[in-house]
Amino acid sequence: MGSILQCMDCAQQYPTTQVIYTCPACGGLLDVIHDLDALRSQVSREFFDSRLGSLDFPYNSGVWRYKEMVNPEIPPDLIVSHPEGNTNLYKHQGLADYAGIKSLYLKHEGENPTGSFKDRGMTGGVSQARVLGMNRVACASTGNTSASLASYAAFAGLQGIVLFQNKQIAIGKLAQAVAYGAACIRVDADFDRNIQLVRQLSTELDIYVLNSVNPFRLEGQKTIMFEIMQQLRWQAPDWIVCPGGNLGNSSAFGKGLRELYALGLIDKLPRIAIIQAEGANPLYRAYQNGFSHFNSMHAETIATAIKIGNPVNYPKAVRAVQWTEGAVEEVTDQEIMDAKAKIDASGIGCEPASACSVAGIRKLVEKGEIRRGETVVGILTGHVLKDAEATISYHRGELDGIESHYANHIHDATDSIEAIRAIIEGIHFARA
Ligand SMILES: *Cc1c(COP(=O)(O)O)cnc(C)c1O
Ligand SMILES: [Zn+2]
Repeated sequence: MGSILQCMDCAQQYPTTQVIYTCPACGGLLDVIHDLDALRSQVSREFFDSRLGSLDFPYNSGVWRYKEMVNPEIPPDLIVSHPEGNTNLYKHQGLADYAGIKSLYLKHEGENPTGSFKDRGMTGGVSQARVLGMNRVACASTGNTSASLASYAAFAGLQGIVLFQNKQIAIGKLAQAVAYGAACIRVDADFDRNIQLVRQLSTELDIYVLNSVNPFRLEGQKTIMFEIMQQLRWQAPDWIVCPGGNLGNSSAFGKGLRELYALGLIDKLPRIAIIQAEGANPLYRAYQNGFSHFNSMHAETIATAIKIGNPVNYPKAVRAVQWTEGAVEEVTDQEIMDAKAKIDASGIGCEPASACSVAGIRKLVEKGEIRRGETVVGILTGHVLKDAEATISYHRGELDGIESHYANHIHDATDSIEAIRAIIEGIHFARA
């Protein structure tokens, strides 16, 4: 049996060659299901370890190193890879202390080719677009998906089309989409509405949708889990903590971890904690009522990458939390920007949404959900340069309603050794 698409609600199956994003029968979300029995005799820790450091396409990619578990049937000449992944896993004591735990690892997905984890999904999705023979690909985006789509579409010779909301786009992300040559359309509507518009346009104009409703994107993104386990010598941590916006990443993590466990590649399932911004927390609210009901909301947060009030992958994220006995937490914009300042000052750096991971760990430790001795991996989703405005505004103390607790003030000096010397001697250096 090859891989198939399967509805998570009614279990109806469809061939992977069909251009669908949700179940035609019931509207449920689709999973790419692989033949785990066949895989069991094929893959092992040693099998994947033997590809580490490979120079050969496509196995030099941190996504396609796991091709058998991502898209086993795709002919390599259809794969569009930069190559992505192979991101670093940092261990930092200062940040562990800040979070309140002994052992903290940070997986930096901002080290992908366009600066966010979206590249792992995009290589999966754009490669599938080539399998399907689609010439145009599109997404609605808070920024990073469009940057990634624009790059991968250009690389593959496909036309990229991106719909932005017309305000609060981080400049680094918009610049990338424009530079990579995608058709950039600013729509007078928020992200949640833009997603609807893209879905409608795609059927009318025969365009392939690359938002995270696309299950082939999630297949790429789940490799973040594969890489982490491999970097930890296949010893699963106790917790994986990540920000949640449209909830594609957390959904992908749940599926990926379950597959690793089913195949015997890890001996226990880490618990997934999804962190939302307080002003964009529909999953957290649903978690509070035991997932008995879900309400969408109007979203507001400085972490624009997760400024989403009606997450498409809600049912899959619930499943991921339930599968792994996970948790959902919320953090304020203040907590996000303070955690970001700490992560940045450690020399690692990330964009605002990414800092939810560390802010969330800190909160879950305070609440006693994460215990001090547990091993935790936080996901940093985007690069520090993505949202330079938020960073500079924080350090200048210019963010409305946010106190810049860890501001690094920029000094001005006249052209004189004495003036500069006075400044340097006046600086109090504290190790991050
Ligand atoms: C897309 C994105 C997120 C949110 O991920 P979801 O899969 O939509 O939950 C978080 N951080 C950054 C930097 C992103 O680009
Ligand atoms: Zn269905």
